[in-house]
Amino acid sequence: MSFSALGLSAPLLQALAERNYLSPTPIQAAAIPAILRGGDVWASAQTGSGKTAAFTLPLLQTLAASPRGRGRFVRALILVPTRELAAQITEAIQAYGRHLPGADSFKTLVVTGGVSINPQMMALSGGADIIVATPGRLLDLVDHNAVSLSSVATLVLDEADRLFSLGFADELARVIALLPARRQNLLFSATFPPAVWTLAENLLDNPTRIKMPAAPTDTPDIQQRAFEIDAPLRTQLLRNLIELNGWTRVLVFVATKYTTEHVAEKLRRAGIDAAALHGELSQGARTQALADFKASRVRVLVATDVASRGIDIASLPVVVNYDLPRSPADYVHRIGRTGRAGESGVAVSFISAETDAHFRLIEKRNRLVIVREQLPGLEPAETIVPAPPSTGGIKGKGKSKKDKLREAAGLPPTTPSAGSKNTNTPPPAEEPKEYFSWSPRLPPRRR
Ligand code: AMP
Repeated sequence: MSFSALGLSAPLLQALAERNYLSPTPIQAAAIPAILRGGDVWASAQTGSGKTAAFTLPLLQTLAASPRGRGRFVRALILVPTRELAAQITEAIQAYGRHLPGADSFKTLVVTGGVSINPQMMALSGGADIIVATPGRLLDLVDHNAVSLSSVATLVLDEADRLFSLGFADELARVIALLPARRQNLLFSATFPPAVWTLAENLLDNPTRIKMPAAPTDTPDIQQRAFEIDAPLRTQLLRNLIELNGWTRVLVFVATKYTTEHVAEKLRRAGIDAAALHGELSQGARTQALADFKASRVRVLVATDVASRGIDIASLPVVVNYDLPRSPADYVHRIGRTGRAGESGVAVSFISAETDAHFRLIEKRNRLVIVREQLPGLEPAETIVPAPPSTGGIKGKGKSKKDKLREAAGLPPTTPSAGSKNTNTPPPAEEPKEYFSWSPRLPPRRR
C-alpha cells in the first residue's frame, strides 16, 4: 500500500517522501480515505501508531481545496489534552503542509496555557486555518471575544480519553456547544472508557469506526517487568537498574511535582544526569527539559503524567513506573512511550506492599501477568501478600512486618489507609471516578 493510493495530493506526497515515510501505517491506511470522504471517524489508536498524520494529512488536503473564510474565521479545531501534544501536532502540520499551494499564508495557531494570552489574542485577530488547542485556554480566548468557533468545519479530538482523565469534561462540553451543527468530527482515543463512549455516541454522526490492534500491552516489542521494592528504596533501585543495565535514556513516571524534583536531584547527586518535568514549570523550562532529554544531554527525565502525555521521543528504550499510574488505561499510555516505530522497549514498574493490590488490578484489566522480580541487595523487607484470586475483585493488601508487630502489640497499623494523602500511594485500586461520572451536556446533532 502506498500513500498515493490513499488519494493524497502531490504536495503532501512530496512532504511524506522528504520525511522518508515509505508506506502508510494501518491507522493511516484506514483513516485517510474515510476522512477525505468527509464523514465522521471514530478511531481507536495509540500514540506511536502514526495517528497524527492519519488526521492531519486529509485535513490539510481538504482545507487546501476549500475556500478560506473572512474575519476571525476558524476552519478546523484540534483539541488535545496537553501543550506538548499541541506543539507536536503543529510541527507535523507545518512539515506535511509545506508544499501545498498557499502554504506561506496558511495559518496554524497553537492555543495552550502556560504562556501569555496576549500574543495569542493578537494572532487570532485575522482568523486561522487550524487551531490546535487545549480546552481551557481556548475558552479563555472565547471569553475574551478573541475567537469565534462558529465557522469550524472540522473538529478533531485527539487523545479523547486523556481529555477526560485530565478533567476537561466540562470544558469539552462547553467548546462543543460553541461549534456549528454542521461539521466533520474525528475522534481519536487510545482507550474507550464509558465517558468517551458517551461522547462518541452524542458527537458522531454515522462514523467510520476504525479499530486498531488494542494496546501496546499486546505488542511483543515491549518487555514488561515488575520489581518488588520497599517504597523508600525506589530511588536506590532506579539508580542500580540504570547502572546495571546501562540504560542511556529513561523516562520515569512519578505521582507528584515534588517527587519529580526530589528523584531528579537524588539521581544528579549520584552522578546521573536527570531533569524534572511537571506542569508547574514554565513553558520555557518544560521545552528545555524535553529538548535536553531528546538531545541526550540528560539521561533520565522524571515526569508526571500530565507533563509527559503525548511526548513523542524517537527511540525511548525504557520507561519506569516509579509511582504506579492511577488507572489501567494510564498504564497502557505510559508504557506506550517506548517500543515505538518497531523498536523494542522495556517498561518497568516498582511495586511495594502498599501498591501491590493496585498493580494487580492494572494487570487484570489489561489481561497481563507480569513476573515479580527483586534486585539482590534490595529485597523488600515489607511483606507483599497476594490477594485471594477467587473473589473477582482485587481487594487484599499485604500487612507490613511492622504492622504485624503493631497488631500483635494491640496498636493500630502505620500503613496509611487507601485514599490518604501519601505521595507514594496511588489512589485506591479502582479506576478513576471521572471516567464514570461525566454525562455530556451536548447540544443535539443536526445535519
Ligand atoms: P504518532 O502516533 O502520530 O505520534 O506518530 C508516531 C511517530 O511515527 C512519529 O514520530 C511520526 O513522525 C512517525 N510516523 C508517522 N507515520 C509514519 C509513516 N507512515 N512512516 C514512518 N513513520 C511515521
